Amino acid sequence: MSGHDVIVVGSGAAGLIAALALAEKVKVLVLAKGALNSGSTAWAQGGIAAVLDAGDTFEDHIRDTMVAGAGLNRLETVEFVIERAPHAIELLMRMGVPFNTEGPDNQKALHLTREGGHSHRRIVHVADATGHAVQSALEKAAEDHPNITLLPGRACIDLITGRHELRYSGSGRVWGVYALDQATGRVEAHTARATVLATGGAGRCYLFSTAPRGATGDGIAMAWRAGARVSNMEMMQFHPTCLYNLDVKNFLITEAVRGEGGRLKIPSGYPGAGRRFMTRFDSRAELAPRDIVARAIDHEIKRLGLDYVHLDISHQPPEFVREHFPTIYEKLLGLGIDMTKQPIPVVPAQHYTCGGILIDLHGRTDLPGLYAAGECTESGLHGANRLASNSLLECLVFGEAAAADILANWGSFEPPPQVRPWDESRVTDSDEEVIIKQNWTEIRRFMWNYVGIVRTTKRLERAQNRIKLLTEEVEEYYGQFRVSTDLIELRNLLQSAELIVRSALMRKESRGLHYTLDYPDMLREAKDTILVP
Ligand SMILES: Cc1cc2nc3c(=O)[nH]c(=O)nc-3n(C[C@H](O)[C@H](O)[C@H](O)COP(=O)(O)OP(=O)(O)OC[C@H]3O[C@@H](n4cnc5c(N)ncnc54)[C@H](O)[C@@H]3O)c2cc1C
Repeated sequence: MSGHDVIVVGSGAAGLIAALALAEKVKVLVLAKGALNSGSTAWAQGGIAAVLDAGDTFEDHIRDTMVAGAGLNRLETVEFVIERAPHAIELLMRMGVPFNTEGPDNQKALHLTREGGHSHRRIVHVADATGHAVQSALEKAAEDHPNITLLPGRACIDLITGRHELRYSGSGRVWGVYALDQATGRVEAHTARATVLATGGAGRCYLFSTAPRGATGDGIAMAWRAGARVSNMEMMQFHPTCLYNLDVKNFLITEAVRGEGGRLKIPSGYPGAGRRFMTRFDSRAELAPRDIVARAIDHEIKRLGLDYVHLDISHQPPEFVREHFPTIYEKLLGLGIDMTKQPIPVVPAQHYTCGGILIDLHGRTDLPGLYAAGECTESGLHGANRLASNSLLECLVFGEAAAADILANWGSFEPPPQVRPWDESRVTDSDEEVIIKQNWTEIRRFMWNYVGIVRTTKRLERAQNRIKLLTEEVEEYYGQFRVSTDLIELRNLLQSAELIVRSALMRKESRGLHYTLDYPDMLREAKDTILVP
């Protein structure tokens, strides 16, 4: 049992910002699966969007966000986040994040880049490793804070609610989490007056994803099981070009390769081998927007039964390629691919989870005592598609908003009651670890093939049938054997997959990231897909 006031689950941007704001007044325990920097935050490359340039306006950033989100965004949230962006950047600078600057020494200004979908230069960045710099600064500030205890190596299993009180109340009030100590294998109950989920996305439901290994939708699944609503889970963002390599499943090939002349082609051994195909899909060919390129690649892969397509920039002079893409060149060379001479095998990959736990402007979920922030939530900011570099921003704004609401209402948060310890009396050590691996692979494959970029009702129903069978198997396994990190993740991965498929089946239109051949048109009215437990 812990003697902390608030528990934060997750040590990425959302979790650590919330913890730092809370720690001004109360004692905070931060739990993280694996290492503190194992979330997506450390991997973010591009940067963070904020209106900082004299020629830019909040109205323009708001409009760009709404256009990307295909009208499914909640305007109130979009305004709330975008108007707080300059403050969030200032906060990070005060913590020592060394954003790139430009201009003479006495007039230094932040260097702003521009990304797809933004009508102005408004992305602050630290070279091409912004997330790493943000994660390091936040970790350092949290480590130095006397009111914060950081506990990595804890895989949270489920939320503790009224059902787990020693004097059973059955209420949905959240009192903390049961967490597996990944080193000892023991399950601990951590209780507090309030709990904040900041557990990141569910990208690992897909065979190819740019997200880290632990992005298994744990927070979304835990909140759902405890009784909170989730929203817009069908809105999964895919990046068009991720390296196809069965060992290295999440290496991004930046869109700049296409920007510098890279061509997408059919690989050898198939009809049309060596030919470009993007010209058949869009007049801008390889320079069409992300979702169009991703859909075209997916179409060719499904049409010809390919594993991947080729991205070829070998027609450019070798020095040009090496100079423009030093990191990618070296990485590929290490894998036996010389991109100055050979095409690169690529596939689209899951990149961002737009849907999640439904929250309000204060980061409140449906359950008393439970808040959420960051990629595990659906706040209304992204709608049907995320605008580039808006997601770290969402983490910062909602991490702070949740903390502010908890502190403002502190008097109403009662101390936690005594709760039941984790019951292991009826389980034994697993004798069939192979089941976990088999199911994990199966989920990621059928999600990739049936619930990917282009969907049909038939494919979604196939996925749903498999999920039903696997759920029985996994629940039986979960009931018999001692929990492990792999088992916790498998259970959550399956739950997230179920929510994605169910949401996709409910949306009878194509909007933003959800594209189905059975309903290719967009309906006049934009409606959230809200699932109620
Ligand atoms: C390759 C890549 C590039 C990106 N580039 C950008 C960019 O340029 N700009 C931008 O705005 N966004 C970018 N994004 C998206 C952005 O990085 C994420 O949306 C954001 O970092 C999510 O932060 P978070 O705090 O919500 O979660 P994360 O940073 O993912 O952290 C999740 C935390 O939860 C913990 N956790 C998870 N499950 C459990 C559990 N069961 N028990 C205990 N702890 C748990 C993890 O250990 C981790 O500490 C990128 C993402 C990727 C993958």
